[in-house]
Amino acid sequence: MRSRSGNEIPEGPIYSHRFRIRNLSFLLIGDEWGITRLKINSGRQPCAEEEGSLSSPERFSNAEQQLREYFGGQRSCFDLKLNPRGTPFQQSVWKVLSRIPYGELRSYSEVAATLGKPAATRAVGMANHRNPIPVIIPCHRVVGIRGDLTGYAGGLELKQYLIDLERISRIFSALSAHYGDIARADYGYGPSWWPAKSPFEMMVGAILTQNTSWKNVEKALDRFGDRLTPVFIRDCPGDVLADIIRPSGFFKQKALKLKALVAWFAGYGFDVDRIRERSTAALRAELLAINGVGPETADSILVYGLGKPSFVIDAYTRRIFSRLGFQPPDDYDAFRERMEGCVPDDLSSHDYYHGLIVEHAKAFCRKNPSCGICPLKSSCCYAQEPDLV
Ligand code: SF4
Repeated sequence: MRSRSGNEIPEGPIYSHRFRIRNLSFLLIGDEWGITRLKINSGRQPCAEEEGSLSSPERFSNAEQQLREYFGGQRSCFDLKLNPRGTPFQQSVWKVLSRIPYGELRSYSEVAATLGKPAATRAVGMANHRNPIPVIIPCHRVVGIRGDLTGYAGGLELKQYLIDLERISRIFSALSAHYGDIARADYGYGPSWWPAKSPFEMMVGAILTQNTSWKNVEKALDRFGDRLTPVFIRDCPGDVLADIIRPSGFFKQKALKLKALVAWFAGYGFDVDRIRERSTAALRAELLAINGVGPETADSILVYGLGKPSFVIDAYTRRIFSRLGFQPPDDYDAFRERMEGCVPDDLSSHDYYHGLIVEHAKAFCRKNPSCGICPLKSSCCYAQEPDLV
């Protein structure tokens, strides 16, 4: 066996460790000198055990932690001892790959040029493909000359996911640096752009805001006075309720929707804490079964009314990410799952990141965008070529 420097080294024990992050399964393999391989399986099946290796979670605890942070969008580089096996040429390619900055892409020919071997594009492609420690040595940051994904040992879906993860993390970092805590919800109650006095008022607001501006919602909420309670809405005749919420538009339909929401709430004895005991997935399914609650309303209620992590996809999200060049799927859930896979899986991130989107859509990325001093300008397709987006 040879070390990275090419010297003969004695055979020693091989260690391994398997674990899962999100819906990915990992197998880290290493020896006394560092990590030699990383296998990633994106199916439900865990990676197969490495024959002849000693299971050693302690030895890989730091690497696992760093990978968890990376996949949570909270780490942009790794600090680990690596010992990938390969020819001197492959080793030189992997070194260049390791220097490609987080969130950026290079073509095979650019990597070859960096190596001082501009004609070695094919050989670079082969060395890229043979990278034994993907993600940590970021071969996914190398694409075809026109930005096409070409190939990836772990599959193109995984490569696209890693590219999305890094770009989306960088976008939210830039937005966070620009807006700071303005966009953060404080549960005393609700973010500054969605004030409410209680979780129930937040849920009512989520229905009333459908197809209208927040100004009109505020007018409707004001007309409740101190009657904005689930018992009042349950017992109030439908035509009276419709008249109260008239400023929010579509008031007859919205009155029926509020009645349906309150009937669901009554099943929990109007107790928000009892609702919160249920899982996010179960609650989402229940909310979607209520008349007038679509996916955007359901996710808004989950995050801002019930304190459950769920990514809200609204017109602002779609507009900004389309202009940034993400080609969001038309299907709501496909887009939501894509975003959820790229942001930390906790409530404070979900509400904060949506808050950042709202702030940005109001401050810069309006229908007629102000790209000149936008903090995302350098990574925005629309700002470079508006006709193509
Ligand atoms: S550069 Fe322009 S289009 Fe792009 S995100 Fe900023 S405001 Fe929107």
